[in-house]
Amino acid sequence: MKRSGIRVMASLVGLVKPLTGYMSLAVLLGLLGQLCATAITVLGGFAVLHALGMEQSVSLPAWFLLIGLCALLRGVLRYGEQTCNHFIAFKLLALLRDRVFAVLRRLCPAKLEGKNKGNLISVITSDIELLEVFYAHTISPICIAVLYTVTAAAFVSLYHPILGGITLLAHGTVGILIPWMTSRWSGDVGQQVRDQSGQLSGFVLDSLRGLSETLQYGQGQNRRQELKQRGTQLSLQEEKAKRIAGRNSAITNTVILLFDFVMLYAAAMLCGFSPALIATLTLMSSFGPSVALAALGATLQNTFAAGNRVLDLLEEQPVVEDIHGYAPVAFDGAAVKDLSFSYSEEEILSHIDLELPKGKIVGILGRSGSGKSTLLKLLMRFWQAERGEIRISDRPIQNINTDNLRSMESYVTQETYLFHDTIANNLRIAKLDATQAELETACRKASVHDFIISLPQGYDTPVAELGDSLSGGERQRLGLARAFLHQAPLLLLDEPTSNLDSLNEAVILRSLQQVQGEQTVVLVSHRQSTMGIVEQLYSVEQGRMS
Ligand code: ATP
Ligand code: MG
Repeated sequence: MKRSGIRVMASLVGLVKPLTGYMSLAVLLGLLGQLCATAITVLGGFAVLHALGMEQSVSLPAWFLLIGLCALLRGVLRYGEQTCNHFIAFKLLALLRDRVFAVLRRLCPAKLEGKNKGNLISVITSDIELLEVFYAHTISPICIAVLYTVTAAAFVSLYHPILGGITLLAHGTVGILIPWMTSRWSGDVGQQVRDQSGQLSGFVLDSLRGLSETLQYGQGQNRRQELKQRGTQLSLQEEKAKRIAGRNSAITNTVILLFDFVMLYAAAMLCGFSPALIATLTLMSSFGPSVALAALGATLQNTFAAGNRVLDLLEEQPVVEDIHGYAPVAFDGAAVKDLSFSYSEEEILSHIDLELPKGKIVGILGRSGSGKSTLLKLLMRFWQAERGEIRISDRPIQNINTDNLRSMESYVTQETYLFHDTIANNLRIAKLDATQAELETACRKASVHDFIISLPQGYDTPVAELGDSLSGGERQRLGLARAFLHQAPLLLLDEPTSNLDSLNEAVILRSLQQVQGEQTVVLVSHRQSTMGIVEQLYSVEQGRMS
């Protein structure tokens, strides 16, 4: 969704609410610091007038003492302001990251199935990082610039109101008009740079994952060519963005000089030499905050683009919400009644009826793409069916707490993911407090114990060290061992033996037969041989049961 800059800003500012106190302090310190900075120049002007004999109210050393004091204060105040701003910024980044992760957890896994992971990574890392600019270097500088401009204009107005008007006009031009115009000229270069760099991350990630396919089909040159092309395009875009930033700062500086001359001329005409000197010095040294705003013009586009993408993610609605608040149930069989489901338009499952009596092994047979995995995902409530219902222990699945449901079910997917951790810890995610004996029992059932103890460090071998050297079948058996360890009453096994030889398959099928009566097993496969042990067989064809 494309939001306007103002909306992005409003939403981002909304997040600062809990930190309003620190924000006000940052603005106050920043304002005072900026006034000290201007005071140094202006007091210098008074000292010059004193030296010329045109200003005698205070002695020369006193002027210098005041200048020194202002310089010292300026440093301290600036330190305070920056500390406050960065405290706010990093606190908020932590808060944002926390919220993004919470959202990702809510969106899992349905919404993430179709997402480009590279893009997601760039939102989580660099986009959130970029918002630091907004929180630490945008909000309070805007407030400071406004307050400070009013103060500077009021001071100069003491000589003549027209001079105050010139000050306001100068700051309005430098701080608002120029950034507005330049941001219109720059268009969406910022957005483009961010998009392209996100796509580049995605492409690199994709290439890394598909390394073996690329080598196998001799696509190395092509991938390299494309990478180079994307890299060049991105650097061209970045160059364009930098050129625009350079042009903008040239325009700003020229306009500042013009206004200084206007001020000098007008003040000299209206009030004479001394006021002209002081007023011009005041104006000259007062552009700091407004220039900071103008410089933001270019980066602000980037920030808004980043903010937009972070907000998109934050506002994304999950396919299914987590459920809380119902009384827990114990597993007592499940049933699917007249269930129909589609991911988009095309109906994947239609009018499915299925009985999963407690303690039975139920087989689901069907060719590839017929919707078997989809049915299991629905039983896990990763997705929500639009018609029909799934009942577990005679209660609709949407009335069962998510935690309760997950502890009742063990789902072994077609692809087992192993974390960068030891084998034992990879298994323990299914049961955190599992003892070594429990691990071994589960692994024996999954026919993977002998393999694990043949490794140099046995159960403590880090998976990362094995890299891709684990075979598909070994992974699959580790996945099964997890499920056996979880000891959930309902086992959902998606092609659990697809990568196994008949010997290992036989061990596993025997293990499954042993749990018969205690655990309910849904065994999905397109292999007839696997189905030897099932007590009830369903077959799905084009989304229909037969
Ligand atoms: P296989 O035996 O190959 O594992 P399957 O029976 O498990 O096949 P499913 O994974 O359930 O098949 O997929 C059924 C159909 O739904 C397929 O046509 C697939 O392309 C589609 N599909 C699966 N996941 C999604 C998704 N997240 N979004 C859209 N379509 C999907
Ligand atoms: Mg499948």
